[in-house]
Amino acid sequence: MSKTSKETFYISTPIYYVNDIPHIGHAYTTIIADALARFNRLRGKDVFFLTGTDEHGQKIEKAAAEKGVTPLALANTVVGRIKDLWKALNISNDFFIRTIEPFHEKGVQKIFLRLKEKGDIYKGTYQGWYCVSDENFLAEDVPLQPEGDKICPDCGKRALLVSEECYFFRLSAYQEPLLKFYSENPGFVRPPGRMNEVVSFVRQGLKDLSITRTTVKWGIPVPDDPKHTIYVWFDALHNYLTGAGYDWDLKKFERFWPADIHLIGKDILRFHAIFWPAFLMAAGFPLPHTVYGHGWWLKDEAKMSKSKGNVLDPHVILKTFGPDPLRYFLLREIPIGVDGNFSHEGFLHRVNSDLANDLGNLVHRTLTMILGYQKGVVEAGDDEQENDRAIREGFEALKGRVSELFEDYALSKALEEIWAYINAVNKYLADNEPWKLAQDGTKKQRLARILYQSAAAIRGISYLIYPVMPGSAQKIWNLLGETKAVAEEPYEGCRFENLRTGTKIQRPSPLFPRVALKDFLQEEVPSSAAPKKEERMDIINFDEFKRMDLRVGEILKAEKVPGTDKLLKIEVNLGTEKRTMVAGVGDVYTPEEMVGKKLIVIVNLKPAVIRGIESQAMLLAAETGGKAIIPFFDRDVPAGAKVK
Ligand SMILES: [Zn+2]
Repeated sequence: MSKTSKETFYISTPIYYVNDIPHIGHAYTTIIADALARFNRLRGKDVFFLTGTDEHGQKIEKAAAEKGVTPLALANTVVGRIKDLWKALNISNDFFIRTIEPFHEKGVQKIFLRLKEKGDIYKGTYQGWYCVSDENFLAEDVPLQPEGDKICPDCGKRALLVSEECYFFRLSAYQEPLLKFYSENPGFVRPPGRMNEVVSFVRQGLKDLSITRTTVKWGIPVPDDPKHTIYVWFDALHNYLTGAGYDWDLKKFERFWPADIHLIGKDILRFHAIFWPAFLMAAGFPLPHTVYGHGWWLKDEAKMSKSKGNVLDPHVILKTFGPDPLRYFLLREIPIGVDGNFSHEGFLHRVNSDLANDLGNLVHRTLTMILGYQKGVVEAGDDEQENDRAIREGFEALKGRVSELFEDYALSKALEEIWAYINAVNKYLADNEPWKLAQDGTKKQRLARILYQSAAAIRGISYLIYPVMPGSAQKIWNLLGETKAVAEEPYEGCRFENLRTGTKIQRPSPLFPRVALKDFLQEEVPSSAAPKKEERMDIINFDEFKRMDLRVGEILKAEKVPGTDKLLKIEVNLGTEKRTMVAGVGDVYTPEEMVGKKLIVIVNLKPAVIRGIESQAMLLAAETGGKAIIPFFDRDVPAGAKVK
């Protein structure tokens, strides 16, 4: 099996588990994949972009039972939400695989039998500590607790000692072949630091993997021994084969396999960089070129997860901004190998400064001048002078660099370079002052040249941002009077002078909304500043009370919020992190007397913006006579201690 002569590009995301609603973390992986798929289509490659859902296993079975629905009904609901989100984010996947589909189940069973006949799958008995939540046996080096059991190092839950008849995959036989493969293909795992992790793990020795369960019904049955179902990870990984046509569209499969890049979160690196190539070696398939483990988006320095309650819902941002600002922010803010910290302030700052100011203004003023000075018609003007030539040549050079950076998956750097060019064009306009030339009837040709260079640069810029912001790129092209789709122009054929003279441009409307932070997050009044009202609250149960994360906070800094009577901006130490909060207590306490005091803070309240400051926590205070009195601790307690 080898690729045919026309160049192909096969990119995949992990298939997402359907026990959870999709959040920014899922969106991030899929947006990276989409930008790379779109770029490679521009390069003229035949692209196959695969995403989908992982729908079997004990966790789905349990989650469905808790909701009183069938596993399939639960999966259908979540799949619907995921597909809606991909639509809202303008994701251009070529196929969406669901692991419940018959072609996938048949493909997995076929490979299972092949490995069994070969002796790489055999039956035995497994006894081990099993984490129900992660559907994973714990590594044997996890220590026993004083109570005699084990705690899952991944999720902190208590594991169960399980003994069952099961089928094993002979992973131990692949230790040497894997190490040989890694040393011959050092780019297989990226970024390079992750390759080192993988190699040292494999060097320590590999044990055979238990790959079936008898305790789980919601899974693919072992073909000739149906009381066993195939372990969800063995099932799911094969989506990369079946999704590309394995065993049901062999022409497609032979065209696209092996994948160019499996894009994954770093938490599932071991499955993709060790187990997956071992399964493929055993079954005789060529191995994928690259497994790229990207970083996580953190919120307040913690990984987003449903259990931590710090998940960001992308729909809130999409409602205000549409897909492109979020796509831009996630890809621009951090290189894809490292972790990033998501804050609403950071997001808005980037959107306002890079999109509304730098790019939005460039487009707006260039088009407005062409409309005002040249009746909206693009003209060539006089011959290029040196600074005009620099703008044209700057674009050609940029196009080459952006291509190299995309090939290297350095999307953040590519956007950085594009923005450096945008700013160079803005500077070119500022230096040449076309608005002054317009006052002088003898300078019409010079003026036309400057506006041509700017408009041609804008056309080129929008082409280069297309993989990341496809909707905005097309909008700008339409404003420039282009009638074709951006994606129709091949990368090689995209030239500065493709902007035709005589083209009539459209009247611009703002491309990116300028939004103030206080309008973005709902403005909320701190409770201690609200008027006193006698009221009896509803009775709540203990579980409802427990949903509040109350902690001991130590005040590190306090200062008055300018222009207010009693608002204080307070920085509080919560043991493992610092937070900023705003409270209406400045009429009772001076900033100086608050520093060093310890008090009770609620830390899992939705952040609110008060006077332009994101308040990330709230202190507890008694209200009396319109004043807020804070209960400070009268004994020493460590910052971060839980209050209950
Ligand atoms: Zn666990």
